[in-house]
Amino acid sequence: MQKKKIKEIIIGSNNKEKIKEIKDLLPKHYNILSPDNLRLKSPKENGKSFIKNSLIKAKYFSQKTKKVCLADDSGLEIDLLKKYPGIFSARWAGKNSDFNLAINKVYKELNKKDNNWKNKKITARFVCALTIYGLKKKPIHSLGIVEGKISTKKKGNNGFGYDPIFIPQGKKLTFAEMKPSEKYKIDHRFLAFKKIKKFF
Ligand code: IMP
Repeated sequence: MQKKKIKEIIIGSNNKEKIKEIKDLLPKHYNILSPDNLRLKSPKENGKSFIKNSLIKAKYFSQKTKKVCLADDSGLEIDLLKKYPGIFSARWAGKNSDFNLAINKVYKELNKKDNNWKNKKITARFVCALTIYGLKKKPIHSLGIVEGKISTKKKGNNGFGYDPIFIPQGKKLTFAEMKPSEKYKIDHRFLAFKKIKKFF
């Protein structure tokens, strides 16, 4: 069967950091567009899972632009908080996407659950769902997960979102203390992309 060649793709996200990372994963000759370039707002993410929300975004942007769309929905699950913030990860940062606020909320909720949490291992994971829409008859989904734990203090200035409080398994540094090139080789987005790389 002949492979449909893609030359142009829209990345279904308005998060500059995610777009930067996904661009890095895609073949260099692609013309990469973002909703921002096309003055498109994001749809309401009212799905109950990462996969559902990535499908909502991929379908919306693909149908609006008549182009293939690769959309990401991701977030941080903390076991002690019953997997919150999870799909609400962006929403915990409020309207202004203030991640100091979101991280303070994580610490506040952990304190509420167990005031001795700092002496325990608080297991957590970053999850990334990717959906490609408009390439095949059916949408293509992929899930990537990186396990780790919550740091008792915010550390590091790289990255975005919850990076300063997440230490991946087997490492001593938070994602925000690592060089982006180091994070990109092990994170949830990379792991999800690896599974659907063959479509690009
Ligand atoms: P989304 O745009 O609705 O998928 O929001 C995902 C949110 O999850 C982001 O705004 C970040 O808060 C968080 N998140 C996802 N991936 C990462 C990551 O690699 N580092 C830090 N935070 C992340």
